[in-house]
Amino acid sequence: MRGKRWPNRFAALGDTFFTSLPTQGLPDPHWVAWSPSCAKLVGLADPTGDEHSLQVFSGNALAPGMHSLASVYSGHQFGVWAGQLGDGRAHWLGEVDTPEGPMEIQLKGAGLTPYSRMGDGRAVLRSSIREFLGSEAMAGLGVPTTRALCITGSALPVRRETVETAAVVTRVAPSFIRFGHFEHFTHTAENTPALKQLADFVIAAYYPECLDLPQPYLGLLEAVSRKTAELVAHWQAVGFCHGVMNTDNMSILGLTIDYGPFGFLDAFDPGHVCNHSDHQGRYAYARQPNVAFWNLHALAQGLLPLIGEPDDALEALEVYKTAFPRALEQKMRSKLGLATEQESDRDLIDGLLKRMAADRSDFSISFRRLAHFSTAPGALNASMRDLFIDREAFDAWAAQYAARLRSEGSVDAERAERMNRVNPKYVLRNHLAEVAIREAQAGDFAETQRLLKVLERPFDEQPEHAAYADFPPEWAQSIEVSCSS
Ligand code: AMP
Ligand code: MG
Repeated sequence: MRGKRWPNRFAALGDTFFTSLPTQGLPDPHWVAWSPSCAKLVGLADPTGDEHSLQVFSGNALAPGMHSLASVYSGHQFGVWAGQLGDGRAHWLGEVDTPEGPMEIQLKGAGLTPYSRMGDGRAVLRSSIREFLGSEAMAGLGVPTTRALCITGSALPVRRETVETAAVVTRVAPSFIRFGHFEHFTHTAENTPALKQLADFVIAAYYPECLDLPQPYLGLLEAVSRKTAELVAHWQAVGFCHGVMNTDNMSILGLTIDYGPFGFLDAFDPGHVCNHSDHQGRYAYARQPNVAFWNLHALAQGLLPLIGEPDDALEALEVYKTAFPRALEQKMRSKLGLATEQESDRDLIDGLLKRMAADRSDFSISFRRLAHFSTAPGALNASMRDLFIDREAFDAWAAQYAARLRSEGSVDAERAERMNRVNPKYVLRNHLAEVAIREAQAGDFAETQRLLKVLERPFDEQPEHAAYADFPPEWAQSIEVSCSS
């Protein structure tokens, strides 16, 4: 903490964009968990021995130079315009210089803001552990995401469906600006000068290459469309469902942001809905790519006062339609261990996904086992085959796959090694988070820290942790995650 400056470029935009206000900390806080790799990123040593850090990351104190603020944004929630929202329980504190550029530090759960609406400004231990582990698991997988530095907790009661206890997560990202920030200044505040100021700030700070373009705002829209396409392709490839893809939960930098009722696929079901509150299945796994495109249209609407011509905006969005399928296909080729591109690859990929969906084979285990596939004549590939109910259908696909691999002279051992670097062995399945949460609620945080360590290296075998890579237990099906957090 010492010697850091905490500049805050966002605060320099002026109070049209936020409200400066103190945090409401946690009474008598304690450490719950911390991420060594995130701490390393922001240049902090183990904070857990330091009382001052405990107070800062619980919202009880500011380090010298910090400026606490909550930003205003709007957004579309479940396809409907929701009007003004804003940081209802998030406080931006300032930036820290890192090898990856300046990183914003933000507390989630440190009390009420003018944007809290009906909320209490708090976050419960349960959802904080999910956000912490989710962010760090995604970082381990190489998926763009906001990071989580630590969680602090307190006995402070917080009412949700039942009475739980309060916690604060410290999040870290280059920026927490969302699509909804832009929508706000167009539809709610109707303040085009502020919209322009925000867009100019985002371009200068995060998309400087747009400055050289004849139309920088169109360039921004196109760049965000490309980033979002790559993000969602990444989600699909690791079987991640966000759960609440509202436009206020979409990062302008193409990061995974706001971990609520997210989930990783267990048995493969393209229609899987991870958010128990999403009755229409709007944010089902297979719908995520289209929803992201819908959200980009909302961003385009938000930027329209700067772009002028709707047709130009529509054209900039077109990039998503090529960037997304290209990114996904490239990721799926890697998942299958294909080193070259062939016309028929899409059929081969679709064929496997269709078999997996029909037999509800486990998403992560299927791809991990596929690495052991043998192209030797007569090979049964039993460990993979056993995942399917319709064995003949699998055999037909396997023959096609073997022929495709032979056509590029694929060497089994080399391919296996490549595949194991893109098909994770360890993902944050709901039941794993649930075990860590239950133990933490009983006062034992060791499992949260242990699980974090496993998830930091999701592609490594880690035989001593093999149980974390197993099929979900029967009881996992009864876990319900909703927006309640
Ligand atoms: P979410 O869908 O969880 O990202 O939240 C949507 C909006 O509700 C955001 O503006 C949040 O800041 C706000 N919000 C959610 N939970 C709370 C809470 N407990 N207290 C205050 N605001 C909240
Ligand atoms: Mg949100």
